[in-house]
Amino acid sequence: MHHEPPWSSVGDAPCITNLHGRPLAGCLPSRRAPRILETDTFACNDVHVSHQDTPLPSKHPSAEGSRARSSVGVSESLPGVDARIVADLYRLHSASTARNYRQDWVRFASWCADRGISMMPADPEVVAEYVRENAARRSGAGDRMYSIATLNRWVASINYWHRNSGLRVPGEAACVSAAVSSVRGIYRDNGERPTRRAYPLRFGELEEIVDVSRRDATTWVKRARERRDSALLLLGFMGAYRRSELSMLAVDDVTFSRRGDLRVRCGGSHDGTVDDDFVKHVPLSRDHAMCAPCAYRRWLEVVANFHESGRPGVMRLLRGHEEFDSHVCSFAPPIVPDPGVPVFRAIRANGNISAATLSGSAIHAAIRRRAALAGYPDEVVSRVGGQSLRAGATAERLLDVSQLS
Ligand SMILES: [Zn+2]
Repeated sequence: MHHEPPWSSVGDAPCITNLHGRPLAGCLPSRRAPRILETDTFACNDVHVSHQDTPLPSKHPSAEGSRARSSVGVSESLPGVDARIVADLYRLHSASTARNYRQDWVRFASWCADRGISMMPADPEVVAEYVRENAARRSGAGDRMYSIATLNRWVASINYWHRNSGLRVPGEAACVSAAVSSVRGIYRDNGERPTRRAYPLRFGELEEIVDVSRRDATTWVKRARERRDSALLLLGFMGAYRRSELSMLAVDDVTFSRRGDLRVRCGGSHDGTVDDDFVKHVPLSRDHAMCAPCAYRRWLEVVANFHESGRPGVMRLLRGHEEFDSHVCSFAPPIVPDPGVPVFRAIRANGNISAATLSGSAIHAAIRRRAALAGYPDEVVSRVGGQSLRAGATAERLLDVSQLS
């Protein structure tokens, strides 16, 4: 099978994560990390490596102070907890476990205090609501803030302080497990914050999926969908993008170089401040069929035709079967009248293109549909999704590095 290294030309490297899944320095635009108070890394199966919580209210000086100080060996007070029990924490547990128990409790206590409800003992219904409310929180990019693993850890921490205070453990109540499993079901259905490792789509597999998609494109609407999905798949893979980044991409974030490579601005604000922009270089591939700039240009042509003359324009463009047998990425890019529009949009059954951007969940679903169409077994399809492109790109990248050494 033809196999080409995903990054074959010299240029700005795409955002690469280290072995712990954290982006290397300079990979994340700084405006993504506005205020860091509580950093929560989670099961490293996901492309998101950390997030920032919103700051806790400052009316709990003991909580704020305790976080700022080095905690090992220091028995500080915790709201609602007997001092001896806090002292035991450091005697019985490792520094990192102790830190989690402590921070998780401060977080919960603060949440209860804001609502004027009892934290110790906590009513199981309150804990269930705490889980549901936090599960519903989303980042600015529209993704869930907290993984199931994190929510479970919070419940375990609440349990810890209750158990050690000789109180009934609220997390063991049926309403709390029901809340956690309901959240898990919602996450799973939308491919959000998966607890299982995303299936990494490798270059060869992507080649097969794109090939099947193109052979299946027998009507003009299917051709439009194929162009969008191939652009999603190839750009997502070659640029090692998160689905939220693909979702937020606007037409004017992407520019073609003279030889066809793409320069993709991500995380750039559209309010005139460009300091925080981070530009990725997506090179063209040897094989036109797997060329991300070609796939992007083919989709952009659909978008441009739609903005120029609506559905009939797209129909005219895609009515006849068109050979795609060599690179088109160095041709003059199609002009989209309003370049601020999102790149990836929903395509309705009648071929109309939605004005709104394709959500992270919709991107996840599109990738999954393509894998199913290419005949992947259900077991694999259930693990394919929004994270598979970045995971696959990372795997290829690591493979290339390991083959070199
Ligand atoms: Zn090309």
